[in-house]
Amino acid sequence: MLQQVPAVKDLIRKCVRCGQCRSVCPLFKEIKNEGAAPRSHVFLTQLLRDGELEPDSALARRASRCLLCKSCSKECPSGIPVDQLVVAMRNHLKDHSKDNVKRLLLSKLFKDQKSLKTAHFLLKTSQVTGIKSLADKTGLLGLISSDLEKANKLTAPVSGKMASKNIAEVTPAKGKRKVRVGYFLGCATNLFYPARAHATIEVLTVNGCEVITPKGLQCCGMPHIANGDVVSAKTMTENNFKLFYDFDVDVIISDCASCSSMLQGDYYDQLFAEGLPAAVTHFKGKIYDLNKFLVDEIDLNANLEKLPKTTVTYHDPCHLVKSQGIKEEPRKILKLIPGVELIEMDGADQCCGGAGTFGISHYDLSRKILDSKIVSIMDTSADCVTTSCPACSMQLGHGLVEHDLKLEVKHPVEFLAEAYRKVK
Ligand code: SF4
Ligand code: SF4
Repeated sequence: MLQQVPAVKDLIRKCVRCGQCRSVCPLFKEIKNEGAAPRSHVFLTQLLRDGELEPDSALARRASRCLLCKSCSKECPSGIPVDQLVVAMRNHLKDHSKDNVKRLLLSKLFKDQKSLKTAHFLLKTSQVTGIKSLADKTGLLGLISSDLEKANKLTAPVSGKMASKNIAEVTPAKGKRKVRVGYFLGCATNLFYPARAHATIEVLTVNGCEVITPKGLQCCGMPHIANGDVVSAKTMTENNFKLFYDFDVDVIISDCASCSSMLQGDYYDQLFAEGLPAAVTHFKGKIYDLNKFLVDEIDLNANLEKLPKTTVTYHDPCHLVKSQGIKEEPRKILKLIPGVELIEMDGADQCCGGAGTFGISHYDLSRKILDSKIVSIMDTSADCVTTSCPACSMQLGHGLVEHDLKLEVKHPVEFLAEAYRKVK
């Protein structure tokens, strides 16, 4: 498998050891050890590929130290997608990783609507009773991380119902239908940010979109691939695209940066080395981040009512700014809303250290990166933080609580929905 990955086959030899990747890696900045540098991931992959190193748990541990933030891949003058090499390595080393239980739970709990309901129940119970009692009772969750109590604080509160409970499979457009949109409702938005999902549907329908949210959607596969489980990611991807294909949607959108970047094929070289399935090919160029879709692909309804004066700052998710080159679009949405003032933070495009489940298995490291981000947020004195990724939202929310700051974290679309709602 490792040998089959195009980046490993064709690009790895282009590393000129210039070290440019090191200068932008948030983990290297904290660890300050060559073993944590992006180029060291390149060498490791090379040594594993050539059989000069045997897979073991120490290597698996080294491969786990990466946020898949793509800062290095974007910076590399030789065009080496270092994050893809890391994903390939993790898949190769998965049987030696201590994260096997985490992977098992991910594959069971973040798979489809039924298993999400179980995850919803477990998280809700853990947040009511305290994670320790749940971990003690099940004897299972504690295996994910020795720092589980800390890690539990990372998950946003799950209160009320999952978004999918109140979303119909077909939501008609308000007024004349202009486009049939497939809404990829990601697991984290569904579980932790139902108001965000409802705002997305509201905004799309106000803009003439019929919204299709298939009941059989599964996870986008990003958490699985980040934990070395390429097989599950592949199966779920095939299922999701088939559903959208059968519904004959014109485009697919997501309000989650990680989901949209995964759906656009960030790691498909590894999932579909034998060629893309027809349904995936069908949607090539038709998958959008929500901000991008609203700003660039439709004539956005600008009939917005003024909101109470609010200052907001915006954090760029790595999977939006580095994977998809989307920086201005969310800002354009915020600037469009009367009453909302955007204050830029320093280093808005620096990783927040969340990276999906990275914070669970590497809490202290993740926390160091997060703390710099929170200082940047505090310097703006903004009333609210915005971002376009539920994983970043959770990480930022956790940092704000830890710093005793009572700021909400929202997606720009939530402000937009509010401004539409106020129009009589
Ligand atoms: S920036 Fe690219 S070429 Fe330079 S050391 Fe890093 S991976 Fe190698
Ligand atoms: S993807 Fe990010 S964390 Fe991983 S090696 Fe590259 S810069 Fe460092």
